[in-house]
Amino acid sequence: IDPLTGLSNRLWFRNQLETMIENAMHQQEQLALIVLDMDGFKEINDTLGHAIGDLVLIETAKRISSLVTEKDVVSRLGGDEFTVIVRSAESIDHVATLSQKIVDLIREPMHFENTKMQVGASIGISACPDDSRSADELFTFADTAMYDAKFSSKDVSVYHPSMTEELIHRKKVESQLSEAADRDEFSLVFQPQYQIQNRKVIGFEALIRWNHNGKVVSPADFIPVLESSGRIIETGQWILDQAFQQMKEWQDAGFDTRVAVNISPVQFRDPDFYDRVVDTLNRHGVCPENVDLEITEGAIISDVTHTAATLKKLKSVGCMISIDDFGTGYSSLAYLKNFPIDQLKIDQAFVKDIPHHDDGTIASSIVVLGLSLGMEVLAEGVETKEQLEFLHMHDCEFFQGFLGSRPLPAKECMELLLR
Ligand code: C2E
Ligand code: CA
Ligand code: CA
Ligand code: CA
Repeated sequence: IDPLTGLSNRLWFRNQLETMIENAMHQQEQLALIVLDMDGFKEINDTLGHAIGDLVLIETAKRISSLVTEKDVVSRLGGDEFTVIVRSAESIDHVATLSQKIVDLIREPMHFENTKMQVGASIGISACPDDSRSADELFTFADTAMYDAKFSSKDVSVYHPSMTEELIHRKKVESQLSEAADRDEFSLVFQPQYQIQNRKVIGFEALIRWNHNGKVVSPADFIPVLESSGRIIETGQWILDQAFQQMKEWQDAGFDTRVAVNISPVQFRDPDFYDRVVDTLNRHGVCPENVDLEITEGAIISDVTHTAATLKKLKSVGCMISIDDFGTGYSSLAYLKNFPIDQLKIDQAFVKDIPHHDDGTIASSIVVLGLSLGMEVLAEGVETKEQLEFLHMHDCEFFQGFLGSRPLPAKECMELLLR
């Protein structure tokens, strides 16, 4: 079956795989099954039409075929999903390396009719006989590994039995999350931020809560699921709306309060992010100077050109930019100088053991770094008086943490402001 002419026959492919498994067993050879799912194909197909879509599929098939041997079988079983039976599977590492090469090659830009386009791919691998000798199981396992790759934003994932359970759990959470918004299960709480010197409240960080079946699920558990399913863009917009609406209420009550909103890297990378922020600002009529966007190091270094442009535009409308969890990412210090950053938030990991161990040193170094670059520095997760004293002594100006207050419902924040 020629994958270039269209779909392969599923039944034929299964028989082929079964025969190959049998032969491999006879000759005591290994076999691997690759399942490849394209990213970004659907968008191209929907916007540019099937003719271009088909060209992209053909080009993808060609690229895959160019990297495998004559003995291997490349096939397209449906939609934008390809499979490869690798007979030349010396080792699973070898197949993983080959798979990475395939993903890299597919990612190279394609040119059709004067349009340049780019797609991606996620690959899952299962091995025979290590994982299974049944064709059906190999399929299921490779598929599971492919989803694992997609969920964990990896290009290639090799099947492991633990994936199945994790995936079932994730799928369940994902489907529950898809209904959470309609069921009004999301809410925001606000954690006060203080000036250390006088304990004055200078603002609040908005934190999302998911009240599900009477329990509060931690954002640390469900934000990653929203990110991998792409739903974070929608939820992130909801968060912006809720936070700005609250801010407007405080603003109208005469409180010029700063509100910090956490921006997921996925949300930040969205080409429409800037427009969405401006639109939301305008709709709620809040003062941009009081909007603090918290972005992580990972989000800003993944695409430096996009970051520079987006941050510059956000700055020009007056928004404040903070680096969240500072010190935990793969920071190149160069970006601190080149991007318009207003505040560093020292991650709680470096505050936790103050003044013991090396944490005091790291926290105080971040303060020095931030101040010397003209930025504000806020310490997160401050729980004890000792920590606060240490930070004060080392010129850290702002803090946030249970010592000040836990995150509060908006109503209680108002009481705090009135005090
Ligand atoms: P984060 O941005 O670093 O938020 C600070 C977290 O530390 C919050 O946890 C907060 O409740 C907790 N915390 C504050 N003070 C203390 C303290 O003194 N001690 C300790 N041990 N913890 C403290 P939370 O609300 O569970 O959020 C966890 C993470 O989930 C956040 O970390 C953030 O990365 C993410 N997240 C929360 N809300 C949102 C949101 O609206 N959007 C996005 N994209 N991410 C969010
Ligand atoms: Ca796909
Ligand atoms: Ca934060
Ligand atoms: Ca943080």
